[in-house]
Amino acid sequence: MKLPNNFLVIGMAIGFVLGVVSGVYTPGLAEGAAVIGTLFLNALKMVVLPLIIIAVINSILRIGNLSVFGRLGLRTFLYYVATTCLSVGLGIVIAIVFEPGSGVEATLGSIPDSIQDTEKITIFDMLLSLIPGNIFQAAAEFKVLPLIIVSIIFGSAFMIVSKGKGVLPELFEQLEQAVMLVVNWVILFTPIGIFAIVGEKIASAGGDFVSILLGIGKYISVLLGSLGVHALFVLPLLLFLITRRNPFSYMNKVKEALLMAFTTASSAATLPLTRKNVVENTGAKKETADFVLPLGATVNMDGTALYEGVAVVFICQAYGITLGLSAYVTIFVTAILAGVGAAAIPQAGLVTMVVVLKSVGAPIEGIGLLLSVDWLMDRFRTVVNVWGDTVGVAIIGKLNRN
Ligand code: ASP
Repeated sequence: MKLPNNFLVIGMAIGFVLGVVSGVYTPGLAEGAAVIGTLFLNALKMVVLPLIIIAVINSILRIGNLSVFGRLGLRTFLYYVATTCLSVGLGIVIAIVFEPGSGVEATLGSIPDSIQDTEKITIFDMLLSLIPGNIFQAAAEFKVLPLIIVSIIFGSAFMIVSKGKGVLPELFEQLEQAVMLVVNWVILFTPIGIFAIVGEKIASAGGDFVSILLGIGKYISVLLGSLGVHALFVLPLLLFLITRRNPFSYMNKVKEALLMAFTTASSAATLPLTRKNVVENTGAKKETADFVLPLGATVNMDGTALYEGVAVVFICQAYGITLGLSAYVTIFVTAILAGVGAAAIPQAGLVTMVVVLKSVGAPIEGIGLLLSVDWLMDRFRTVVNVWGDTVGVAIIGKLNRN
């Protein structure tokens, strides 16, 4: 089903503006409409797990050759690592140069329980959870990465057994078409979903929000500035150098997904629309998109990793903790891991930041400094996460064709 040109983006923009207006002028109505936003997000989440599992298996079945699939996997991995390193490095350097934390009054505020609990999680636990003992439990807990790994294993087995013919490839082809049909149905409700999500968020943000914003304005400028440089300069340059495509017309083709990322603050909830935009508008091959996008939504988080680096340097500056070269290297490495480990859901990066803070002995209470603005910063980093994935499809697709 192809919607009329720009139908969705205009609807989304109208939903966004009406959401802001109702959040400011009729907060009661906006809070009442929150249930519609939740329904919409639930519908997106409902479709995400089947989409990921079927798309990954189908991608391998379409490729039909394990060594070709291995090459796609290797290039994808290299792209993720290279762009994430660039983004974290950039964020840390900008934070060192502009010192957003100096002069900020570091108060020891309380931190949410979800973050307290993370204190006990180690990198070892993260590794152990990659192979789920029970796939249904992993699905029930919305653990996407273990499910992708299971899909890669079963997809490879299906490919070997079916040799590209027979019932399995046909079944998965039709399953994917059916899932995408459901995606299209859900996406029709995007404008009203966005209206409800934005309205509720603005209504609950509270009047003193602007003064909070100004209080840590330098942190916000440094963070948004670094995200901007990565999204509008580094990634476009890579895209242009490798594919010779015009980065901004490419961005225009995936703009609906980027807007969705901004409103939902979840790469996972955005995935159905990301896949639709990339496959329908950019001319990407389905086998590339179906592998690079689900995996990218889960592990390739340039925006989140950059944010981890900037935020931790900011907290250390605010607490007067002097960092040496080895501490910066530690932040660099753990910020990348925290980006990979963050789930593709709202504010997951705030939780995994504990690992980065602990690695350099910074107080996790420092998270309290960022808490009040995190819901907003999350939206910007999610846009960068999704943009990085879509650029990845074009770059990896091009390298594969070569
Ligand atoms: N909300 C982000 C995402 O879904 C993750 C994070 O940085 O919190 O991509």
